Amino acid sequence: MQFCMLTKRHIKDLESIVGPKRLSTGESNLELHAKDQSQHPGTRPEAVIWPGNRDDVSKILRYANKNVLPVTGWGSGTSLEGNPIPVRRGLVLDFSQMNRILDIREPDFQADVEPGVVYHDLNEKLRLRGLFFPPDPGAGATIGGMIANNASGTRTVRYGSTRANVLRLTVVLAGGEIMQIGSRASKSSSGYDLINLFVGSEGTLGIVVEATVRLRGVSEEFSAATATFTSVEMAGKAVFEIMRSGLDPASIELLSPECIALINKEKGLGLNVSPTLFIEFHGPTKKQLEDTMKIAHDICETMSCSEFRAGIDRKDRDDLLKARHELAEMIMRNHPGRSHIGIDVAVPISAYPEIISLARDESKNADIPGYTFGHAGDGNLHLVFMGKTGDRKEWSIIDEINQRIVTRALDLGGTATGEHGVGIGKRKFMQAEHGISLQWMKQIKDLFDPKGILNPGKIFP
Ligand SMILES: Cc1cc2nc3c(=O)[nH]c(=O)nc-3n(C[C@H](O)[C@H](O)[C@H](O)COP(=O)(O)OP(=O)(O)OC[C@H]3O[C@@H](n4cnc5c(N)ncnc54)[C@H](O)[C@@H]3O)c2cc1C
Repeated sequence: MQFCMLTKRHIKDLESIVGPKRLSTGESNLELHAKDQSQHPGTRPEAVIWPGNRDDVSKILRYANKNVLPVTGWGSGTSLEGNPIPVRRGLVLDFSQMNRILDIREPDFQADVEPGVVYHDLNEKLRLRGLFFPPDPGAGATIGGMIANNASGTRTVRYGSTRANVLRLTVVLAGGEIMQIGSRASKSSSGYDLINLFVGSEGTLGIVVEATVRLRGVSEEFSAATATFTSVEMAGKAVFEIMRSGLDPASIELLSPECIALINKEKGLGLNVSPTLFIEFHGPTKKQLEDTMKIAHDICETMSCSEFRAGIDRKDRDDLLKARHELAEMIMRNHPGRSHIGIDVAVPISAYPEIISLARDESKNADIPGYTFGHAGDGNLHLVFMGKTGDRKEWSIIDEINQRIVTRALDLGGTATGEHGVGIGKRKFMQAEHGISLQWMKQIKDLFDPKGILNPGKIFP
């Protein structure tokens, strides 16, 4: 599609919609919205707009569609696959000023929020009511960005990804129409499931202006443990056995020795530098959790676990989870002069030991700093490489490893992206993963956005 360049007339018209204070063409604002947290090169938009409400968004999209201007949504810019980079320039809609929690309906376990609400802020508000919104993606993500990427995290194994926790959306379509999809019922068999279509669509089908999200009650009790193993394969096998046993962990995270060494260095936690599982269970009574933990312990022992430390108190649990959340940032901080890529795949749980041993071998052979970790209970693997910035040879090695790991994940019946989305980085795997259904996805895209103005250059190869 041939897009129009933004002219002075466009800027004047758009300013008359949102007011001059909500639009900027200033260098620093364009630069701040040129790049997410990935290694993909940035592209500056031509203008940044901070909509104040859904009507602003509707009018902007109607105008952009008529004038064929690209429009890309922006939450916090923490994506890892180039998802919000405005590769065809045009307008970036930054939702940081649409950040109101509109309603918390405790009896229904639901909240209505605007897209710019930061996930942590929502949970901070909910904590006082004994509730939480479970997907737990680590960085300062917004609800809009989480919905667009179908983000997930340490709690997904028990509570599902963002997709499982969205009930209703208000979206603005490319032509400016405002549409409500889903319902406030916790289940429905009514027609096509547009919620599932819009969650994970990376802002390519419509712009989210309001969401009803599902909340959960904070458990009365928790029980946490760390288990260390002689190899990542054995840790992976233990994950499979724990999941097979039906124990229903609230969290089961895998960390390679390199990750543990880094956590010890930065946080002084004194953990064994071995492949480690962090396991957590939630439940109504201490007794029930003790029984559950005993079974998990037995399973780990049959997998030659070298140490099983159960009964971790709240402070130690929080310290461990915090360290896990900050791991990606620690890795980046500890390798100045290098850039990162996070290979993110997910496989059926039975194939987890195989994919992590491949990651371990690739990492060992590469002679480039590499860190293996992941939301193990979901079969989700991350392998972060820190390649020398600008070193083409190192980056072509990393590229080949990425190719091999994704290809293996697909051969194992998995997916090229467990949670970071397609963005720019995973487009090249879409054909291999989806085959003929990719054409149907493209037809859906064309139906919702015939001029292709919404986040162009993403998802499709
Ligand atoms: C240190 C670190 C750790 C991370 N850990 C995790 C993790 O554990 N799990 C995980 O899933 N991800 C993780 N991520 C990736 C990232 O945080 C998530 O993908 C997150 O959902 C992005 O949210 P955001 O608000 O930053 O969105 P952005 O990056 O700003 O945008 C994401 C996508 O959403 C679109 N978008 C934004 N707002 C809207 C809207 N209102 N309507 C339609 N489209 C919109 C954008 O165009 C873009 O395509 C991590 C990132 C970092 C840097």
